Amino acid sequence: MPEQPTILYIEDNPDNQRLVQRILTARGYRVLIAENGPDGLDLARESQPVLILVDLNIPGLDGYETTTRLRSLPYLSQTPIVALTADTTPGARERALVAGCDGYLSKPIEAHQLSAQIADFLGGKRELVPAPVEMVMLREYNQKLVERLEQQVRELRAANAELQELDRIKNQFLSTLSHELRTPLTSLLGYLELFGRGTLGPLNETQSEAISVMQRNTQILSRHLNNLLYLQEVRSHTLELSVVHLPQLVKPLLLEAQHRATESGLILEAVIADVAPLKLDIRAMELVLRNLLDNALKFTRAGGRIRLSLQDEPSRVLLRIEDTGCGIPPETLHKIFLPFYQVDSSLARPYPGNGLGLAIVQHIVQAHGGQITVRSVVGKGSVFTVMLPRSEPILLESHACGS
Ligand code: ADP
Repeated sequence: MPEQPTILYIEDNPDNQRLVQRILTARGYRVLIAENGPDGLDLARESQPVLILVDLNIPGLDGYETTTRLRSLPYLSQTPIVALTADTTPGARERALVAGCDGYLSKPIEAHQLSAQIADFLGGKRELVPAPVEMVMLREYNQKLVERLEQQVRELRAANAELQELDRIKNQFLSTLSHELRTPLTSLLGYLELFGRGTLGPLNETQSEAISVMQRNTQILSRHLNNLLYLQEVRSHTLELSVVHLPQLVKPLLLEAQHRATESGLILEAVIADVAPLKLDIRAMELVLRNLLDNALKFTRAGGRIRLSLQDEPSRVLLRIEDTGCGIPPETLHKIFLPFYQVDSSLARPYPGNGLGLAIVQHIVQAHGGQITVRSVVGKGSVFTVMLPRSEPILLESHACGS
């Protein structure tokens, strides 16, 4: 059976859509409907119709503009485009032809005439505007297009300014909120530590346990707040570089993580090469390590393994954190470095977090001229690799961190 010829109808009125579809389907055509100009352009690209009917009065990109755009597509250059419109104002027909239409049919749609009119256009009929009229109308049409463009640019600029202002207000709010929460939290952490050390009197075993649970959770809260604060500062933050001996920086953080790993039934291994010193922002690099280790610990189930390795290469240092955790679906891998993005963002998710850690990590690594990459397999685990460039040799006499 020969394939049915396709007619594309760009129209937002459902009654007209139904009527045209009924008339033309009965004549053996396949009728595709697009509600607006951009959808019409997409459908025309996909379906390569034998003829296109366009309502001139569609919202957004109007029928004239849609026709001009359709006409510019090379594979539609010979396809008849016919205006089907209720616009009977003087000059409407010429305007449609100047925009690129080959014909002009006015509404209401005449059921018994439509298929014959379409057959005429398919058979080669083309309506034309006399050349002198065409020149004048083309100029008017161009002016109208530029006016519309100008208006759209103005609207976009205004919308962009509004979005930037909203973003500024959101950042301000987050910043105020984090500062306000930080102060009481510091005092909480201080008192918990005094309790923990027994400075405020002896505690029985149950009380000690309760205090250490409170301490752990307050520290988690504090980490989230630090991330929030850092993200707010990050845009204006300039790195405070000093000479850092990375293994020395890593060791205390590994100890902290070791404690949490043991509690969660995880094996934490470290392979630390003797990396030559680098110029780094200590506070920022601590955040990188904390966030990556924190994620590895968080997203790996009891019995799993986490491995941190430091490797020295002539032009760079590689810091790798591998886990045998839940892994990250491939379609979300490119999003995990976006602020606030979480693969599972439902309130019922089993992992705590605010989606800021990796955004901060990436920012810091890039600010050092480095790169972070991730490889991951769902159900098997993830590998985060931080590459820090070594720009110039550093003399060991300078004050290396922790040495
Ligand atoms: P969060 O506070 O949610 O940990 P991050 O920015 O650190 O925020 O990470 C963003 C998301 O990336 C996480 O919510 C998680 O879905 C995914 N992710 C990050 N690290 C890992 C990992 N090691 N294993 C599995 N998923 C991870």
